[in-house]
Amino acid sequence: MKIIITEKIHQSGIEFLKEQFDVTEMYDPGKERLLEVIKDYDAIIQRASIDLDKEMIDAATNLKVIGMAGVGLNNIDVAYAKSKGIPVFNVPDGSTNAVAELTFSLLLNVARKITPANDFVKGGGWNKHLFPGSELKNKTIGTIGFGRIGKRVGKIADAFDMNVIAYDPYIDPKDVAHMNVRLVSFEKLLTEADIISIHCPITEETHHLIAEGEFQLMKDGAILLNMGRGGIVSEKAAIEALKSKKLKAYAMDVVENEPYTGGTYQSELLNLDNVVITPHIGAGTEEAQEYIAKTVTKKVASYLLGEGVFN
Ligand code: NAD
Repeated sequence: MKIIITEKIHQSGIEFLKEQFDVTEMYDPGKERLLEVIKDYDAIIQRASIDLDKEMIDAATNLKVIGMAGVGLNNIDVAYAKSKGIPVFNVPDGSTNAVAELTFSLLLNVARKITPANDFVKGGGWNKHLFPGSELKNKTIGTIGFGRIGKRVGKIADAFDMNVIAYDPYIDPKDVAHMNVRLVSFEKLLTEADIISIHCPITEETHHLIAEGEFQLMKDGAILLNMGRGGIVSEKAAIEALKSKKLKAYAMDVVENEPYTGGTYQSELLNLDNVVITPHIGAGTEEAQEYIAKTVTKKVASYLLGEGVFN
């Protein structure tokens, strides 16, 4: 049986598949090329670089299973695949800790102005007075979404002696009663938090969840972190909030209209000092990638070999 891998995954997963299957590594083939060749494969393992939409799934006449080497399924038409008897396997818990740690990397970065201070020194300067920072201790962090990543962020925040509040309309308060978190309404989160961190999926309901009106409700000088998906925040509104200093800083790992890997990203956000941005590296740790590759390839292989059923 033949498997195509369209985005680099950890080598351990590739080696495992090669022991049993005919594996093609065709990284970032582009939509047109993949449309041409996908009919030859029994399985595809991919991440977010190409949409597996109806057109692609229709072209995949031999496809038996889709493996998503990550969490987010928003670029796969899962319902359509399912209607054609093609299951989609992802790795929901693979990047939880990696994303939570990146959240704090970027938060500490903007709180202590690490990037501008680093650029200043590398540019030949030395002046300790130019980069006044702020501390996390006793600040209130509000997470939008309190699932796997939100909870991990809450736990780390607790260790920083921060107050943790969360807005998540879909969790059972009993499930988090043991945690040091106060569940609040969306409006309360926006008005009370010094730092707002987004950890919900992008859905019709969460698209532009943070827009002009929401920025107005925030504390003056709030910090916004977005490790979820770009479209949850209106970038236009974020740019205005940053320019007016309503928002002290915006740190993000995801952008609206995310370019394909290898592309470039253009936005007025890039010209603003109080913005720190990374190219969707949340899951990009050795530990997370090894776990994700081993897990997704095991699920795909077992399914193809009829060895088991996975969620
Ligand atoms: P999860 O499913 O465990 O948690 C998501 C939480 O969001 C759930 O508890 C859900 O109830 C809540 N939610 C849904 N709609 C909501 C709404 N309208 N308002 C508030 N909360 C809402 O998922 P997770 O593993 O914690 O991941 C969260 C998100 O992080 C993913 O959907 C994905 O978009 C993003 N993510 C990003 C990276 C990255 O590399 N930056 C990596 C992994 C995941």
